[in-house]
Amino acid sequence: MTDWKPTACILCECNCGLEVQLEGRRLVKFRGDERHPSSQGYACEKPHRLDHYQNGSDRLTSPLRKRSDGTFEEISWDTAIREVAARLAAVRDTYGGDAIFYYGGGGQGNHLGGAYSTATRRALDSRYHSSALAQEKTGEFWVSDRMMGSATRADFEHCDVGMFIGKNPWHSHSIPRARVTLKELSRDPARTLIVIDPRRTETAELADIHLAVRPGTDAWLMLAMLAVLIEDGLVATEFVAAHVAAGEYDTVAAVLRGIDIAKACERCGIAEADVRRTVHVIAKARAFASFEDLGVQMNRDSTVVSYLHRLLVILTGSIGKPGTHYVPTTLVDLANGEAKRTSPVAGARIVGGLVPCNVIADEILTDHPKRYRAMIVEAANPAHSLADSKRMREALGALETLVVIDVAMSETAQLAHYVLPASSQFEKAEATFFNFDFPRNYFHLRRRLLSPTPNTLPEAEIHARLVEALGAITEATLAPLRAVAGNLSMYAMTMMSSVMTNPKLAPLAPVILYRTMELPDDARQGAVVFGLAVKAAMQHGPSLARAGFAGAPIEVAVKLFEAILAGESGVVFAIDEWTDVMKRVGTMHVALPDMLDEVARIIARPVAALDDAFPYVLTAGERRSFTANTIIRDPAWRKKGGDGALRISVGDAERLGVATGERVRLTTRRDSVVVAVEVSASMQVGHIALPNGLGLGYPTAGSQVTTGIAPNELTSTEDRDSFVGTPWHKHVPARLERV
Ligand code: SF4
Repeated sequence: MTDWKPTACILCECNCGLEVQLEGRRLVKFRGDERHPSSQGYACEKPHRLDHYQNGSDRLTSPLRKRSDGTFEEISWDTAIREVAARLAAVRDTYGGDAIFYYGGGGQGNHLGGAYSTATRRALDSRYHSSALAQEKTGEFWVSDRMMGSATRADFEHCDVGMFIGKNPWHSHSIPRARVTLKELSRDPARTLIVIDPRRTETAELADIHLAVRPGTDAWLMLAMLAVLIEDGLVATEFVAAHVAAGEYDTVAAVLRGIDIAKACERCGIAEADVRRTVHVIAKARAFASFEDLGVQMNRDSTVVSYLHRLLVILTGSIGKPGTHYVPTTLVDLANGEAKRTSPVAGARIVGGLVPCNVIADEILTDHPKRYRAMIVEAANPAHSLADSKRMREALGALETLVVIDVAMSETAQLAHYVLPASSQFEKAEATFFNFDFPRNYFHLRRRLLSPTPNTLPEAEIHARLVEALGAITEATLAPLRAVAGNLSMYAMTMMSSVMTNPKLAPLAPVILYRTMELPDDARQGAVVFGLAVKAAMQHGPSLARAGFAGAPIEVAVKLFEAILAGESGVVFAIDEWTDVMKRVGTMHVALPDMLDEVARIIARPVAALDDAFPYVLTAGERRSFTANTIIRDPAWRKKGGDGALRISVGDAERLGVATGERVRLTTRRDSVVVAVEVSASMQVGHIALPNGLGLGYPTAGSQVTTGIAPNELTSTEDRDSFVGTPWHKHVPARLERV
């Protein structure tokens, strides 16, 4: 058994710092790392079984090429790189780089591979790409960008009223030390925890106020809350006068005064008195913090709900002071809400550069001349994780070339023409860009714990080889940098002057850094972070200076990068002040014409008639105690809930005549499955829920066994938000029959 070594959890966006003991190549014991700047020793129950990821029996150990009969053959790396580069270059040269689509780039703990992929995409002139963020967050990013210039986060540690909308942080986390913070909020009689969720979740159990909204009617609840805020004179008028663009508040107030509060409450299933009480608690809070998540962002009217949620935050003046909302300093702006382009076939709005996931199949399964004809999928599994898996499989199967870069034989890898085996997250230096803390923000470059599994390569090396095979960089590009690699300041200046002389090198910079920097073996893939440090030094000087990185930009970048390399448990790279927040937000905009038009449409929309064929609302993918992302494919990692039961209410169970463990047939417009039920008092009548992360195939006793239901076999691509295309996975019409 080794000493404790620092690393991080890779199972949710918190990426808590961990310490691990190894026995040979096994990750044997984990504990929270007290030196990690954000998690400070905290960890939930999930990471203790991460060895099932590292030592899964479906790890890939050789590049694979598909034969004409559909089976795979092992090939050498030289052959794989040469053939993949040649096939992708042929697509680029025949149809243009826009015909090559890139999907993925990392999960919650492995964002460096995606950073290196920009070089490969540049070498292929490929512009269109997407990731799981476009299934979840693009609506929030888009309206946040238009209203506040940036996405905001919430300070639950210091709020006196905290609210979660469509979010169960007890299991899905997303805030540092989630359970500690929730318990503190819940236990303190001077503080109020509010939960808006159809289900009585573990977080709702802790709440002072639980608004068990009718599934899919969150827009009505938000409208009712905002209308009460106006009617009862609770708007933070001084804040609004100081920070909202002139005249816009009056426009919005006129719309909200027209809301029939009683009718809105009736539609969302919440008593008007409860809505009024909740709004008064929020408006009178010293500091109100609020977080919306997939329960509403993968639901009907999702972008409008994100807009209305931000209205509530702005009209209560809940920005820019401790316990409210802030804009953090980041090294990479993942919450980019710009929308400047549309997709080439479906004409779908592209937010933050991401094509909506629900149109990807439409962009392939067509004879449109601009269709995607080749795809690179990296650290992602769209055949499992995107809506309507059957259609997605058909789309992936229609591509001329599909290349998958992954650690394991995923559902998508099985469809690929070439599979390139990546080293695991513990076999290379890795990092997450989900760094959203405030006022002290941190970055954690995790050192490699193990040498790569034989015949696997870190993504940085895969992209470097592809870029070289495509002829995008040559030794002539690299030589001047190699010559000064021993002196980071000289190196940075040489790199900057190379890019200024030839701007086309900028997107290739990650691979150039990787090929030329002199770094220890266990941190080699961290080269790209030097580029981020240079950028941060130029953009965020005062915040970096407060964290101890002061001086001219190059000097700051060098100091910061050296601190990142030295800080094996993470380093605080920026310290902000609350006064920075209002400068970053600037003048806010509340009257977005398209959102107000949509509000008018929602008000005019008749109540959807109950569909006799599909009378239930299915949440297709609920986060539970032993569900996470799909990085761990071995079903044995789950200590409980391994079968992925369908949760149904007591009332529905009685009506169907089923008990926990008995099976029902679950049918949606896409498919029909048989699944065991778990009768739960947490569910409301008519609402049913399947866990996320199940339905993965895994080699067991010589054959491929699928455990649980893959939620996206049941979802449809057309059930999506009209603005940004995010799917309605939390609102799938369904029916149940007793088996
Ligand atoms: S699952 Fe999330 S909250 Fe739990 S230890 Fe991992 S990163 Fe931390």
